[in-house]
Amino acid sequence: MISKTQCKTERVSYGLSDVSPKDKPWDIHGSERDVVGESYLSKGYLSHAERILNCSQFLEFAVGLSDQEAVTLKLQSARFCRVRYCPVCQWRRSLKWRARFFEALPKLFEDYPRIKFIFLTLTVRNCFLDQLSLTIKEMNKAWNKLVKRKQFPALGWIKSIEVTKSEDLTAHPHFHCLLAVPCNYFTGSRLYISQPIWQQLWRDSLKINYDPIVNIKKVKPSIGEEERSGLMAAVCETLKYSVKPNDLIDSSDWLVGLTEQMHNLRAVSVGGILKSYLSDVGEESDTEDLIHIESKLDVEDEQQAKCYFSWNHSSKRYIGV
Ligand SMILES: [Zn+2]
Repeated sequence: MISKTQCKTERVSYGLSDVSPKDKPWDIHGSERDVVGESYLSKGYLSHAERILNCSQFLEFAVGLSDQEAVTLKLQSARFCRVRYCPVCQWRRSLKWRARFFEALPKLFEDYPRIKFIFLTLTVRNCFLDQLSLTIKEMNKAWNKLVKRKQFPALGWIKSIEVTKSEDLTAHPHFHCLLAVPCNYFTGSRLYISQPIWQQLWRDSLKINYDPIVNIKKVKPSIGEEERSGLMAAVCETLKYSVKPNDLIDSSDWLVGLTEQMHNLRAVSVGGILKSYLSDVGEESDTEDLIHIESKLDVEDEQQAKCYFSWNHSSKRYIGV
């Protein structure tokens, strides 16, 4: 652990993750970023490669003290490439979405104190990678049909697409959906939808001739601090990466195939009442703030001590400068 004075005045060599263990993901995603950048380069995607290989090379943090007097670092400045499958930017984007959701919760609960949440996963059969775009467009069409059905119980929803790579190199696209439902969803038989009925509704919306795998989970009651952990887990699952980092670094053929297939397809969408609570900044938007994710910047941050770290290619770590 370093002190504030040390951080400001001494030029000693220390790793970001040594100083701040919670910032270990910077090293992990930084290493993945180099692999993904090199993959794009090897495939002739020069613009993607150049942007990714220059992404977040230099980080500026404000130094603060937590309640337990431990040094905490808060990111203040970094240049992000904003390429969709840059592992660093993908990570920051998912943190930003989660932060946006949790910032919106107090107002949502004030307006809808008894609202409940359910977590729905909708899948289809695996497809070949060159059919992925078409498959997801069909799924999106089916989703739009599903939410317009009379039986659809949610007042609002947030939906994300995840694509995983199967061992046989087929793609497994699926939706993670967090649905905000009325308080009488579980008690009023008129609203409640069992798993077999969800499956039937999804099958009908897709117009397919097999039973797709559909998973539905009740999110623990959302009133009270303790019970919020259930909601937090569901939010984290809904708003995680859209592609596992390992799937991005595993094969350059898969990476470029995925890049082409996912072009112009949104990874996260919001509907119903949640729309007015969640500011919706487009993915890869130049204005999207990937820096301030923990909380709003405090006024006194401007006067705080600063720490600087730069990416070290050989050790694959962020090192203090
Ligand atoms: Zn990036």
